Amino acid sequence: MRENLLLEEAQEVLLNQARPLGKTLVPLMEAFGRVVGQDIRACDNVPPFNKSPLDGYALRSHDTRKASPLNPVRLTVREEVRAGCMPGQEVVPGTAIKVMTGAPLPAGADAVIKYEDVKEGENCLEVYQPLKAGGNIIQAGDDITQGELVAPQGSLVSPALAGLLASLGLSRIPVFSQIRAAIVSTGDELMTPFEPLVPGKIYNSSLYSLEARCRELGALPVILGNVPDRVEAVAACLQQGLATADIVISTGGVSVGDYDVVQDALSELGAEIIFWKIKMKPGSPLIAALKDNKIIIGLSGNPAAAMVTFDLVAVPVLKKMMGQNQLLPGKTKAVFLDRFDKPSPERRFLRARLHRRNGMDFVRLTGEQGNGVLKSLVACNVLIDVPAGSGPLKTGQQVNAYITGNINESYQQDFRSSLMRIAY
Ligand code: AMP
Ligand code: MG
Repeated sequence: MRENLLLEEAQEVLLNQARPLGKTLVPLMEAFGRVVGQDIRACDNVPPFNKSPLDGYALRSHDTRKASPLNPVRLTVREEVRAGCMPGQEVVPGTAIKVMTGAPLPAGADAVIKYEDVKEGENCLEVYQPLKAGGNIIQAGDDITQGELVAPQGSLVSPALAGLLASLGLSRIPVFSQIRAAIVSTGDELMTPFEPLVPGKIYNSSLYSLEARCRELGALPVILGNVPDRVEAVAACLQQGLATADIVISTGGVSVGDYDVVQDALSELGAEIIFWKIKMKPGSPLIAALKDNKIIIGLSGNPAAAMVTFDLVAVPVLKKMMGQNQLLPGKTKAVFLDRFDKPSPERRFLRARLHRRNGMDFVRLTGEQGNGVLKSLVACNVLIDVPAGSGPLKTGQQVNAYITGNINESYQQDFRSSLMRIAY
């Protein structure tokens, strides 16, 4: 068993073990939020035919070559074509066909002129300007060309992609199978929110943060609930997780206390422990094991530590199992606009929020950074990566951060108030 890995080593070791599950075909809207299971190429052109982008007249540009305000060209209007209908006639020299937005371009026409630019008469129109061949025409395949790669394997089906797939007439989409993630909370002290709180006990919070995160990612959480700090009980619960899910995540009991029994439970199960402890705060006593080709990740019980390590270590693994391509959280650089006076002999991740003003990114801490403080995770959308051996952080210094939450909101917010707080 390896001990004290760098975060990046822990990520790599686990990602090497993780495999996507199978693939399946699902109805289009069930594919929303799921991961595309194979490259999807366009089976057709979109649009499938040349069409008019506006209400006007389809005509032959050649007919208009001598048109001018003083010398208008007169064309006979042969018919009218609405969107969704096929033209019955061709545009022959000296004629035009009235077309509505989205109507197929009639044969013979090579340009469309908008209503506003012509003078309409009884079954005829006058054109005052020469038109270029191809003017005002949406060509077949203008949006998507037949054979084009529209959704590479591993891409997430977004609202826009769902629409794009629909525009190709695809009603069943190949996606990776959803993964089931079992969540086990160890701790004699844990109670479930609907129970009246007994003195000395606390409500289990991590379970709900992790379950919600799993759902957000598109994994199916299998909730195994609270289990007391006894080796056999934890082993039985982990075994149940292995039997019912594709990966098992536990919290608590991974440190060196007398009742930290997860490691013993893993040994009892015959699981191979891959590593124990990562060089970072919070959440260093993380344990990872393998059993039945399934990964078990034991996170620290401290609620903030559990979530931070879940995001940095477990989420990339879940994403790989889901078939995603982008596994690790994005990284960014920003100016630290706050105070953090403690030195960091060990690498430390600080809960913070990104702000943008005048094109510059800033980060501010979201509150207390203690292992058990969950509150500062609520507004947190980046984790500042403070290297081991750093002194106190200085206001105005540049820092690296992992993006773990929604940074769109940060960019929408007015930053003035926090700038003022720092300035005075
Ligand atoms: P442990 O990792 O088991 O030593 O737990 C560390 C701290 O986190 C202790 O104060 C526990 O009471 C607390 N804790 C453990 N699991 C949970 C949980 N699921 N929800 C909230 N607090 C927890
Ligand atoms: Mg415990």
